Amino acid sequence: MFRRLREGLAKTGRALAGRLRAAVLGRRVDAGTLEGIEEALLSADVGPEAASALVERLREANRSGELLDGAQALPFLRSEMKRMLAGEGRDLARAPSGTTVVLVCGVNGSGKTTSVAKLADLLRREGRSVVLGACDTFRAAAVEQLSTWGERVGVPVVKQATGADPAAVAYDAAEAAAARGADYLIVDTAGRLHTQDNLMRELGKIARVVGKRIPGAPHEVILVLDATVGQNALPQVETFRAAAPVSGLFLAKMDGTARGGFVFAVRRRAPVPVKLVGVGEGVEDVERFDPDAFVDALLGDPASSEG
Ligand code: GDP
Repeated sequence: MFRRLREGLAKTGRALAGRLRAAVLGRRVDAGTLEGIEEALLSADVGPEAASALVERLREANRSGELLDGAQALPFLRSEMKRMLAGEGRDLARAPSGTTVVLVCGVNGSGKTTSVAKLADLLRREGRSVVLGACDTFRAAAVEQLSTWGERVGVPVVKQATGADPAAVAYDAAEAAAARGADYLIVDTAGRLHTQDNLMRELGKIARVVGKRIPGAPHEVILVLDATVGQNALPQVETFRAAAPVSGLFLAKMDGTARGGFVFAVRRRAPVPVKLVGVGEGVEDVERFDPDAFVDALLGDPASSEG
């Protein structure tokens, strides 16, 4: 369980856990120790707000005499980090009946198409039937890429020629998914952030069109963020929220970075829960976000990192 997650977070984990251990082991908790902890957190891109909130909790516990020995600091921090993320990772929305429509958006290169395939495979492995809609019709490669993933994962892909109206493809896809009685329709959308107006209009139109065919759709709008960009990806949340009702985040490429602590910065700054994390290029390299498992993967086994 969670082996993939642990391996995927190893880059962040090694850096973070090593620095934390060096900051606390064999020491009393004092201002210097707390500073060391804060630096370790910042180096993992936890972000200044989350880092100082965590350190403040340690400081309070130290003042009240609850936390004096450095060896206690890591278990304490672990539980505070879990507490900070509690409530994240709520399940994907599910339509009360019929097909659940999930719109996936994100800037080009964020890992969006791969993440669509991962989500399709995850749902399929859980016994759900899935249809994909290739609505990123602007790039020929995007439609081809999604078709290849669809074949590999074993789910049908509704598509049209490059340059087709994305909303028309979305309508076709909704039609096909409803006709098949599919459990999920996952719609890949274009990610041209430099033409923000178009992006907004297009995303909004896709959302309206699927809503016409399937009541209540889209039930979920997932924004894919590239974790290797760390906190710099955060402004994208606001941009996309202006275009569509973003309801969950998919943090891709968590394995490719030592900045995996940016989940905490996301938590502080973006009013949208993290639902999924991508930890590799393979279709199976995905986990539903579980705060406890995530923090444990980040900090490593309690016995080895806090002994
Ligand atoms: P899109 O342009 O946003 O649709 O991005 P793609 O899905 O084409 O992905 C861009 C690159 O990121 C590809 O080389 C993917 O293999 C890679 N990628 C996507 N997700 C992950 C991930 O979780 N981990 C790693 N290491 N690479 C990823």
